[in-house]
Amino acid sequence: MDFPAVLRRLKEDVRYKTARSIAVQLPEGMKRGIVEITKEFNDKELIFIGDPFWGACDVPQNGKWDLLIQFGHSRIPNLGLFQQVIFEEIQEDLEFDLDVNAIPFKSLVLTSNVTYSNQLPRIKKLLESKGITVSLKKGDSRVFYPGQVLGCNISTARGTEENVLFIGEGIFHPLGIALALPDKKVLAFNPKTGEYQDMEKEKRKFLSQRYGAIDLASRAKKFGIIVSTKIGQTRYSLARVAVNLLQNAGKNPFIITLDLVRDEELMNFPADVYVNTACPRVTVEDYGTFSKPVITFYELQMALGLKDKSRYIFDEIVMTDEIGSSSFRKRN
Ligand code: SF4
Repeated sequence: MDFPAVLRRLKEDVRYKTARSIAVQLPEGMKRGIVEITKEFNDKELIFIGDPFWGACDVPQNGKWDLLIQFGHSRIPNLGLFQQVIFEEIQEDLEFDLDVNAIPFKSLVLTSNVTYSNQLPRIKKLLESKGITVSLKKGDSRVFYPGQVLGCNISTARGTEENVLFIGEGIFHPLGIALALPDKKVLAFNPKTGEYQDMEKEKRKFLSQRYGAIDLASRAKKFGIIVSTKIGQTRYSLARVAVNLLQNAGKNPFIITLDLVRDEELMNFPADVYVNTACPRVTVEDYGTFSKPVITFYELQMALGLKDKSRYIFDEIVMTDEIGSSSFRKRN
């Protein structure tokens, strides 16, 4: 990816040209890019947003700037257009090769993160030329590109096919697919290392962690229900359903709103267990950082005996809502 070329292209956008002040939101791994951005955007007042963020679900509202440029993620369609926000996805434009002979499937669903979603049509053709039947699917209204998965939404991986191939680095996305579709075989290909990884072992490890948390929750009395204030994570209505379920079960629930869901923000609340309706991957990947068990809404239903425990249900986000609607109204 040619970062200086990306910055020069952004300067041609009419929203850049007409803005006086610009806020820039960078993922942790790109924060070093501030030096180049400061040099290239030297005709604007710049504000770099220091809070960490992990997805296009996190669009700061009501900031004192004319334009926000968010790097690293594609827009979440069902959150609306955000006229004064540019989502600069940063996709990999270097074509990589993959060893098709190492893929043990005759048919599969092809997926990736946003970084490689522009390469999926090419990979599909390559696999098909070697005799593999490939499905590249449009996701639901939270997903921008065919085949793209988010940590909280794997709708492009669903279907009757038995196998899923994921293209991208790390296990974050393919682990989500494996947890959400536990009966399918999920294989991840890392274009940077050229290695394949079967997600079966990781899936088992995390499922064991999740069932341990469900077991602890089934014996708890006091429940803190976490609702995110981030625009693309807010599920207050789901939290209200959780409150009703818990009250009907004779438990004591209370709702807490948070921006960053971290143990230091929760430790003084008198809860035995937290039900996290914010980003579901905080519940899974950050589980070990919390001093109390944290579960998802669906895990709560299993803990209360309302859902069959034998089939794990992964928490995915499609639609969100929010506590106040003012920022929704202002957005466009
Ligand atoms: S809710 Fe979590 S997984 Fe989903 S887009 Fe936001 S940060 Fe990513």
